[in-house]
Parts: sequence; structure tokens; C-alpha cells
Amino acid sequence: MAGAEEELPDFSEDASGTKQEGNGEDSKAKTEAAIRASGFRDFMLQEAIMKGIVECGFEHPSEVQHACIPQAILGTDILCQAKSGMGKTAVFVLSCLQLIADKLSEKGVQVLVLGHTRELAYQIQHEFLRLGKNMEGLKIGAAYGGTSMDKDREMLKKNSPHILIGTPGRVLALMKPGKGAPKPKKGKKDEKKEGEAEAEKDEESVLSLAHLSHFIVDECDRVIDELDMRKDVQKIFIQTPKKKQVMMFSATMSDETRGICKKFMQVPHEIVVESEKKLTLDGLMQYTAALEEKQKNKKLIDMLDSLEFSQVVIFVSSVKRALALDGLLQECKFPSMTLHALPKEFAYKAKDGESLGAEHGRIERLQMFKDFRKRILVTTDIFGRGMDVEKVNIVINYDMPQDSDMYLHRVGRAGRFGTKGLAVSYVSSDKDKEVMKQVQDRFEVEIPQMPAQVDTALYLNA
Ligand code: ADP
Repeated sequence: MAGAEEELPDFSEDASGTKQEGNGEDSKAKTEAAIRASGFRDFMLQEAIMKGIVECGFEHPSEVQHACIPQAILGTDILCQAKSGMGKTAVFVLSCLQLIADKLSEKGVQVLVLGHTRELAYQIQHEFLRLGKNMEGLKIGAAYGGTSMDKDREMLKKNSPHILIGTPGRVLALMKPGKGAPKPKKGKKDEKKEGEAEAEKDEESVLSLAHLSHFIVDECDRVIDELDMRKDVQKIFIQTPKKKQVMMFSATMSDETRGICKKFMQVPHEIVVESEKKLTLDGLMQYTAALEEKQKNKKLIDMLDSLEFSQVVIFVSSVKRALALDGLLQECKFPSMTLHALPKEFAYKAKDGESLGAEHGRIERLQMFKDFRKRILVTTDIFGRGMDVEKVNIVINYDMPQDSDMYLHRVGRAGRFGTKGLAVSYVSSDKDKEVMKQVQDRFEVEIPQMPAQVDTALYLNA
């Protein structure tokens, strides 16, 4: 990521518009980028943030950014449902940066963002780092499972961030008294069960949310629908000040979930796609392949040999299947990887460049894929939501997802931000057929059988 940032042109401008630096093609390109970013200029964001936007190469705000950012920077609660890959992350990243820009001298966590996986938390942290990199004094921290909790505690004690991104479980754990935190006095509190964090006093935990002003949940339906995670979120929520902005985002949300999300909010501004039909991605070519289970490997290898791809994500139904399929593809000399660590007994199978064993390997592996060091990722639904890898242009459902929501999230990994992409789903059982029918009925799309030859113009960006 740092490498990509280094390649971006410098940007400088005066209040009236753009100020050219350097000469020739380079400065022309800079000027053009700045002019195109003018849609963002209407949001009246601070200059340091605008600079980050231009450096990220964002030219125009997307529809969801147009619809949400002006409301969000007024401090309104937001409940936003918009399709995958259209920049929902930047909605809360830019708004929060703007809202705390003048409060960086204040101590304590002001923004908390919760996501359902460590990979998502890591990715969101990086979007904050990219877009906020010109804001002097801004501190951004992340806390998620699979990393040392002591390190998180140290970060919070010594250098408390303005913005904290994390998974609900880890954030809640950090709110409990821990090693290094002042010990509670002996007495009733010692008898408290694990997980009961709410009664602890601020000074007893390393993480206090007493100064929080913005509470954000990404992939909120996933977080809210899973009972354990919802409970964690509720426990965190009740330890935050009453007066704060709450924003929640997802591409999918049932009416019931929407109702629960709204209970966390006061008169939210609701953004909803008008019809389910509009949730499907315009640039995405979708096919099915009817086959038997035993034909899947051959079909996959044929496809990987014949299709043109930058990067491809292959979804399977279990970690075991991901490890097995990844192993098979590597044996066939495909540049394949998986996010999942090999169980210890298979560690000897490790290939060069693969980081193994330790839990935190998942983030390293994700970065490896994002860095384009591997072109094929075999994974499960943990990568199905929220993950953004620009070069992924093909998604293969080697195993069909369980429902139409997950289908939508998975195929949304290709065709990000309006680009073209291809999604192929292997349909082998009656249940697979049923899910495929649900997808077609719900999103009002016809997903045909994959032809013998797929025209590259249909799924490759020019
Ligand atoms: P979502 O959360 O809606 O699925 P993301 O926030 O992950 O989508 O955004 C998808 C990709 O689009 C990311 O790589 C992000 O950096 C990029 N992006 C966001 N907003 C813009 C914009 N206005 N112009 C260009 N790219 C953008």
C-alpha cells in the first residue's frame, strides 16, 4: 500500500482552485485530477482531506457518497444500504475525518468503527490512513483478534488514537480491566463474570469511550444478525456517551435488521436502494455452470487456463475445502493462496512466501493478495463481505453460497466501483439450484449458462 501511495503525484493547491507544480505532463495530470475532484469540493471538506482524496485518485463522488456525505458531516445518524463496491467506506471515513479535524488536540477515542472480521477492520484502518494522511497529528488505531492484546493495550495507554477500528470482541475485551491497567479494588467487582464489562469504571480499563462522538458499524446486518456479536456491540454501545452520531452501512439489510439498527439511532437519515433489482452490479457478467461435484476441479482448471484475469477469488464452503483446493491448484502450478493458516501437522507443505501457522497470518496473507503477490485466492465467506481488492475481476463460486445475500456480497468482490467483472457459479445440487433461483428472482436478473467461449470484452476493462 505504501508503495502505491509513493507513486501518486504530489498535490498542492490554493484556496481558489489549483496551483500547478512542476512542469509538463505531470503537472497537467495533477491539474486535471484536481478539477475532476471538484465534485468532492462541494462537500466543503478541509483542505488536508481534499488532498488525500486527490492523492487516492478519487475523481467524482459516487452516488452513495453524494447521498450520504452532506448529511453525515452535519452529524446526522445514518443508516445506509447501497450496493457493494460503491465507496460506502469513504462515506464514513471522509465524514469522520471532517468532523474531528478541529478536535485533534482533544484526548481520547472520538470515532469507533466496528466490523465483523479482522480483515475488514484492517482494510478500513488503511482507508482512514490513506485519506487522512495529510491531517497533522491524526492518530488511527486498530484492534482485532489474532494479534497481541498487550500491544493493543500499550497502544491505547501510550498513544491513544482519535479513531479506533476494531472487531466487537476485541474492542469489548479491551474495555475490561487488563494487565497493566490499574487493578479494581477487592470486592464485588472481582466476582464479575467474563464479558461483563459494563460496570467497570473508565480508569480501570485501557479503553475508555467516554469521549466518543461517532459510532460506526460496517457490514451492520452481519454484525447485528449474529447474536453474540450484537451483544458485544450493545455492551460497547452502552458505555459510550448518549450524545453521539451513529452510522451503519451494508449492501444488504432485512426489514427486521433495519429495525434493530434504528434502535441504536435517533431519527436517522436512511439511504436505501429503491429496489432489490438495483443491487446487482452493472458491470458484472454473471454465469452459472451446471455440473457434478466431481467435475468441479476440471472445470475450474479449464477456466483458469482459458479466462483472462488479473486476480480471481474462488469461494468454497469450508476452510478444509479451501486448504485442499488451494493445495491442488498449487500442485498444478497456479499462483494460488488461501487466507487460512495450514493446520500445524501440514506445516511442512508450506510453500515459499506463505506465512503460516500463527493466527495473525490471515492479515499478512490478505496483504499478500492485495499486493498482487498471488493472483488466485481460495477462500470462504470470511472474504465474502466488505473486502476490497481492486484487481479482482473474476469471482468463482466453486461451492454455491447458502443464500442470495451472500451471493450478492461474494460476486461484489469483482466489478468494484463500477468496473467490469465476471462471476461464475457452479451449480451441482438441488440446494444450489434453489439458491440460484432465489438470486435470479430477487434481483430480477437472468443468469445464463456459461458459454464455451466468453468474450473478454464482456468482463475485462478496456
Ligand atoms: P463498499 O463499502 O461500498 O463495498 P468500498 O468502500 O470498499 O465499497 O469502495 C470500493 C473501492 O472504491 C475502494 O477501493 C475505494 O477506495 C474506491 N472508491 C471509493 N470512493 C471512490 C471514488 N469516489 N472514486 C474512485 N474510487 C473510489
